[in-house]
Amino acid sequence: MILDPAWLPNCSIRRVICHWTAGAHKASSLDKEHYHFLVEADRKVVRGRRSIADNVSTADGVYAAHTKGANTGAIGIAVCAMAGARQSPFLAGPSPMLESQWLRLADVAAELCRAYSLPVTPQTVLGHGEVQVLLGIAQEGKWDPMVLPWAPAMTLTQVGTFFRTVVQSKLQAAAETAEAPVLASVNLLDKKIGEGQLINGSVYATAAAVAAKLALPAPAAAATELALANGTSVAIETIGTKAWVDVVAVATALGRKTRWNSTTRVLTIL
Ligand SMILES: [Zn+2]
Repeated sequence: MILDPAWLPNCSIRRVICHWTAGAHKASSLDKEHYHFLVEADRKVVRGRRSIADNVSTADGVYAAHTKGANTGAIGIAVCAMAGARQSPFLAGPSPMLESQWLRLADVAAELCRAYSLPVTPQTVLGHGEVQVLLGIAQEGKWDPMVLPWAPAMTLTQVGTFFRTVVQSKLQAAAETAEAPVLASVNLLDKKIGEGQLINGSVYATAAAVAAKLALPAPAAAATELALANGTSVAIETIGTKAWVDVVAVATALGRKTRWNSTTRVLTIL
C-alpha cells in the first residue's frame, strides 16, 4: 500500500479525478488545499489538507476543491508538476510531469479504486481535462493531466484510455498478489501428479499434469473443460498464465475419494 489505510475513511465515493497542480515538483501548501493526495517528482505521495470524507458532501463548503462543479463524491489526486506549461504549441515548462510520477498517480488511483470498490471506467477514473467531455460539466479549457511530456503526440482520448488501462492492470496485479496461492502437492494413488496450489480452500493442479497422469490428451490452450475417460468433464480455470483444475472435482468426476493432509499439504486421490 502506498496510501496509509488511515487516510481512507469508510465513506461513499463515486470517482477519482486526476490532475496536475500546474505548480512546481513539490507540493505547496496551496496545492494541499485542493487535492486529497499529491505525487511529488520523487514519487513521494503527500496527503492534502482535506479528508476524502470531506468530499462526500460539499454543501458545507469544507472540501478539497479540485474540479469545478464535480467535487461531490470525487477524490482529487494530482502530480506536482507543469508550472508555466502551455497547451499549444505544447511546452511542458520547467517542472514537467515525469513518467515515473504519472505511473505513481496510477498506483494511487488503483489503490483508491480498490479501497472504494470503484470500477475503472471513463466515468469513475478520469483526468480533469476529460471531465467536460465525459461528464458534461464545463471546465473552462482545463487540459490536465492529459498531455504526456514524454509522448506529446498522444491525443487526450488516447492518454485517458492509456491511463485507465494502466490503473486496471495495477489493480489486477494487486489482486493477484493479495491472493497469492499456497503451494500444495497432488498425488494419484501414491504417484505424484505434481505441484498444486491451495486457493480459497481448494487444491488446484495444472490441467496438463492431471491429463498426463490420467493418460488423457493434453487440453487445448483455450479449453474450458478437461474431458475425462468416463465421459464426464471438469472445468478448467485460468489462473495467472496456467490452466488449472480443481483436484477434488476431478476425483468426484472419477468416482474417487480424496485424502487431504493439511500438515504436508498433500491431496491424494484414492
Ligand atoms: Zn485540474
